[in-house]
Amino acid sequence: MNFEYDDEHEAFRRELREWLAENLPAGWRDGEREMLEGDEREQFLRDWQRTLYDGGWAGVHWPEEYGGRGASLIEQTIYREEMARANAPPQINVIGINFVGPTLVAAGTEAQKERFVPNILSGEEIWCQGYSEPDAGSDIASLTTRAEKQGDQWVINGQKIWTSYAQYADWCFLVARTDDSGLKHEGITTLLVDIDQEGVSMDPIHQASDEEGFNQVYFDDAVTSADNIVGEVGRGWEVVMTLSAFEHSTTTIFSIEQNYLDLLEYCRTETRAGEPLIEDARVRRKLADLDARVQAAKVSHYRNVSERSETGTPGPEGSMDLVVADELRNDLTNVAMDVLGPETALWEDGPNDGRLADDYLGSYGSWIAAGTGDIQRNIIGERVLGLPKDDKSQESHRT
Ligand SMILES: Cc1cc2nc3c(=O)[nH]c(=O)nc-3n(C[C@H](O)[C@H](O)[C@H](O)COP(=O)(O)OP(=O)(O)OC[C@H]3O[C@@H](n4cnc5c(N)ncnc54)[C@H](O)[C@@H]3O)c2cc1C
Repeated sequence: MNFEYDDEHEAFRRELREWLAENLPAGWRDGEREMLEGDEREQFLRDWQRTLYDGGWAGVHWPEEYGGRGASLIEQTIYREEMARANAPPQINVIGINFVGPTLVAAGTEAQKERFVPNILSGEEIWCQGYSEPDAGSDIASLTTRAEKQGDQWVINGQKIWTSYAQYADWCFLVARTDDSGLKHEGITTLLVDIDQEGVSMDPIHQASDEEGFNQVYFDDAVTSADNIVGEVGRGWEVVMTLSAFEHSTTTIFSIEQNYLDLLEYCRTETRAGEPLIEDARVRRKLADLDARVQAAKVSHYRNVSERSETGTPGPEGSMDLVVADELRNDLTNVAMDVLGPETALWEDGPNDGRLADDYLGSYGSWIAAGTGDIQRNIIGERVLGLPKDDKSQESHRT
């Protein structure tokens, strides 16, 4: 197996590295990552989204005909490596660019592609994903939000929860029940809904990290036009699965590696009782264990990318990356909390500008988002290892 990148790929990496060196927001180039709050934070993230778009780096994986770079899977891997290495700010339209846009390209009408896809890429319209409900998460087919046809529009009533980015979003990719006469996963429809309307309201959910990254979203006679149905009425399950496949194919392993390198640097430079932390045998053992797991997770990801290059579509291997990365992230940040000790409580005034502390708290949610670790294990069991289906998982949208 050849682990080297060829010249063409290295040229892609150089181009991105040079662009990042010139275009990362002020301060971020030197590792000073000022995270603003409230409206300022939103504006900062919108500006960064626009900068990426103007530079042609917003949707590298999108086909060229839709304004992307048509980047190969290997180039997409290099893109993730470099963005993590540069500690670049996150994309505010991550749901639009990684999940909704590719789903519309695959399953939308020509009119939907023309209307929505360019504004997703440019970040002019931010998207959120309205799947989960208070009683429907892993088992999304239990959803109770309803959409009813009235004239040439659909009227929506119900509640979604854990809706990330809804506070910034203009549009929601919504799953609703349109018919309950058949089996549970039948009679489900996917709709594109403008959430800046009277019938939509929301409450932010306050997290342990002090952020309000997701929301409860209420639909109270909200409306959308019949043109905004994706796929066929009552056959939204197929569209739900298409979007979920894109959702499972993103990995965070490179930002986890960056966190590991930050922790390593901290242990090299911080002293306890006059000795660098890294000289402590217990710390060294933990770091060695994490180092081996980071390298193994990367190699496993590269193998999955190679397999996907052959099939051309996201497959169940993405679930392996998700399980490995989420557990590693949680273990890594737990070690970091041990090593940093009471200084963690200083938050952004503490070591590493509080990034490891933030990541520690966030790591518990990562295990749940995009389908929990249990659901990913079901996918691996059934679709990678060929084990028999478990009754419960047959009902789950995540599988
Ligand atoms: C950070 C974060 C961001 C999120 N963003 C969004 C978003 O933008 N949009 C959105 O729609 N949702 C979002 N979610 C919601 C997320 O998709 C759900 O929380 C997740 O699917 C689990 O659903 P649940 O919380 O209802 O838990 P449940 O489904 O009730 O699960 C409870 C427990 O039972 C286990 N379990 C359930 N079914 C099975 C099974 N078949 N086999 C084995 N174990 C099982 C689960 O693993 C879990 O441990 C987000 C969640 C988080 C944490």
